[in-house]
Amino acid sequence: MHPPTTETRFLEGRVALVTGASRGIGAAIAVQLARRGARVACVATTAERCADTVARCNAHQEGAQAYGCDVSSTPQVAAVVEAVVKELGGLHVLVNNAGITRDQLLLRMSEEDFDRVIDVNLKGAWNFLKAAARPLMKTSGRIVNVGSIVGLTGNAGQANYAAAKAGIVGLGQSLAKELAGRGVCVNTVAPGYIATDMTSALDAQAAEALKARIPLGRIGTPEDVALAVDFLVGPGGAYVTGQTLVVDGGLAIGG
Ligand code: NAP
Repeated sequence: MHPPTTETRFLEGRVALVTGASRGIGAAIAVQLARRGARVACVATTAERCADTVARCNAHQEGAQAYGCDVSSTPQVAAVVEAVVKELGGLHVLVNNAGITRDQLLLRMSEEDFDRVIDVNLKGAWNFLKAAARPLMKTSGRIVNVGSIVGLTGNAGQANYAAAKAGIVGLGQSLAKELAGRGVCVNTVAPGYIATDMTSALDAQAAEALKARIPLGRIGTPEDVALAVDFLVGPGGAYVTGQTLVVDGGLAIGG
C-alpha cells in the first residue's frame, strides 16, 4: 500500500476504521491515524459516544465519522462496514480494538461472563474481518488487532479474556496467511498495563504492585499503544505480517 516514504501524513486520502474508538486506547489510535491524514470511522456501542473522538480527529483531518454497533452482532457490523465504505469511499486500515473484561476466578465465572467476553473480544474482531476483508483486499490494506499480553501469558481471574486474546493471535496469523496474496498485512498489538477506564477498577495497592513489576517503571498510556499501531500501518510495517508486537514496558518478560 505504501511506497517507502518519510512522509508523515502517509494515510492522506485513506480511510481507517477503528473499533472501541470512544475512549481509551481506541480513541488514541483514531486520533493518531487522523494525524497521519486518514479519514477515520470511529466505532463504539453508539455513534454519540464517539463525538469527542470525531472532533479530535477532525482537528487533524476532516472527514471523520462516528458509527454505532455492538461488535458482537454480525449483521450490525456488516451494516457499519458497508456504510463506511460507501460514505468515506473505501477502506485501507482496520483496527479491531473494542474489548471488555468480566473478570472472575474459573469456579465463580458464569457461562454468560465467558460467552460475552469471547463474543465481544474475539467474535467482534472476526465480524469486522469478515465484513471488511473484500474492501481491504481491493486496497492491499492493513489490519491491526488489539490483543493483550494476557493472551500470551494467561492471568488468574481472566480465563475468558485470556482465551479471547489468545484467539486474536491465532485469528491474525491465519488471516495473515490467507490475505498475504492480496498484499494485506495482519498483525496483533499486545498491550500490557495501560491507564484507561478498563484498568481504573484496580485499587491503588494492586496498581502499585503491578507497576513495580514493569521494567520500564511506568504504566503505559493509550498513546504508547497508538504509536505501535502507527508503525504497523505505516511505511515501517510494509514487510511485517502475522506478528505480535508487545507494548508493555517489559512487563511480560519480567524484571
Ligand atoms: P476501554 O477504555 O474500556 O474502552 C473500551 C472500548 O470498547 C470503548 O470504546 C467501548 O465503547 C468499546 N466497546 C466495548 N464493548 C463494545 C461492543 N460490544 N460493541 C462496540 N464497542 C464496544 O478499554 P481500553 O483499555 O481502551 O481497551 C481497548 C483494547 O485494548 C481492548 O481490546 C482491551 O482488551 C485491550 N487491552 C487493554 C489493556 C489495558 O491495560 N487497558 C491491556 C491490554 C489490552 P463504549 O464507550 O460505547 O462502551
